[in-house]
Amino acid sequence: MKQSQLFTKTRKEAPKDEVSKNAQLLIQAGFVYKEMAGVYSYLPLGLRVLNKINDIIRKEMNKIGGQELFLTNLQDPKIWEATGRWSDDVVDNWFKTKLKSGTELGLGFTHEEPITRMMKDHISSFRDLPLSAYQIQTKFRNESRAKSGIMRGREFLMKDLYSFSRDEKEHDDFYNKAIIAYTNIFSKVGLGEKTHVTFASGGTFSKYSHEFQTVSDAGEDIIYIAPNGLAVNEEVFNDEVLKDLGFEKKDLKKEKSIEVGNIFSLGTKFSEAFDLTFSDEKGENKFVVMGCYGIGPGRLMGTVVEALSDERGIIWPETIAPFKVHLLSLGANEETEKIYNQLQQNGIEVLFDDRDKKAGDKFADSDLIGIPYRVVVSEKSLSQGGVELKKRAENDGKIFSINDLIELLK
Ligand code: ATP
Ligand code: MG
Repeated sequence: MKQSQLFTKTRKEAPKDEVSKNAQLLIQAGFVYKEMAGVYSYLPLGLRVLNKINDIIRKEMNKIGGQELFLTNLQDPKIWEATGRWSDDVVDNWFKTKLKSGTELGLGFTHEEPITRMMKDHISSFRDLPLSAYQIQTKFRNESRAKSGIMRGREFLMKDLYSFSRDEKEHDDFYNKAIIAYTNIFSKVGLGEKTHVTFASGGTFSKYSHEFQTVSDAGEDIIYIAPNGLAVNEEVFNDEVLKDLGFEKKDLKKEKSIEVGNIFSLGTKFSEAFDLTFSDEKGENKFVVMGCYGIGPGRLMGTVVEALSDERGIIWPETIAPFKVHLLSLGANEETEKIYNQLQQNGIEVLFDDRDKKAGDKFADSDLIGIPYRVVVSEKSLSQGGVELKKRAENDGKIFSINDLIELLK
């Protein structure tokens, strides 16, 4: 894409009303637009990143057998009354609305209730199980604090998967596969080393839930990391839990962290509330054993910005960068146009800065936007035999011939 055609503009300064680094950089570079506190629109560059994150998540969910669907946002209070979760005393972050007739509805903050009810139409026999279904869909939560940019939205995207199994053993098998899938996702988006599988409170159905916590000063959580890489959330941190997990207090490292994912065993809590049963091999009726598995793609994107940016801007990992190459023409538009076409013909995603701007401004914008490879074409580089290639995360570039450049990038 030609940058002269991109309608979004970078800003010279970070927005003054944002305190989080992710919102400051993403707004300054033109990835997102702030509608109001905790409500952000995704602009073309931001949507490219978000879609790449979603594709990585989708692949991993499909690999463990997840089937994609798309549930509604408008929620019928009746089904939430079945679990007691319609009450504002129980759930403090509902957005509720009304039909013209006055009937109350809710905007979904999660989807255990509707998917459990829906599955009553589709699960009846042991032959129907196990199964899992997921969506990447908007959630609404009336969060009281919205100071963390796209990491804590009041309207935000969630990938939520729900698993349905015949018994605990079958559930545990799927749950363990989900842990591996999640680990793959966080590695692929560049957060592998900083993200820890963390024991957190499990509610009433299991001893623990598992969170995926990325170490960052911008985090709202505190975790204690053991030498083996596993961690425990401060909210469940006590001597009994440490003993149970085999953690030695003196070996643990305390860190601030961001919860990028969370998986839960739900037992039969929801299937009992909705009478979701199946008949087993002996013809006996049993409650389905469930689990739920969440990731916030937007929060993940914000976490990457928090964890991987520097004082000049964002540093996207190649896997989720809006483009692979930022091609900058410094007074050599004709030559650069040819290179642009060649890169595109080789299937390389390029943002071509063809704007009539000073070199310094182009460099500053390139660092701010954070595309992994910067290719500069100028009279000087051409006289030296080609173009200058520099990685965003490195300080020095090198001259490459056009052919070598294409070989390297393709
Ligand atoms: P938190 O404790 O941070 O409020 P949560 O435990 O309520 O999060 P879950 O219900 O477990 O969140 O949601 C699953 C995932 O959705 C989270 O791990 C996170 O990645 C994402 N998420 C949750 N709330 C938000 C939000 N307000 N904005 C963006 N992403 C969110
Ligand atoms: Mg959580």
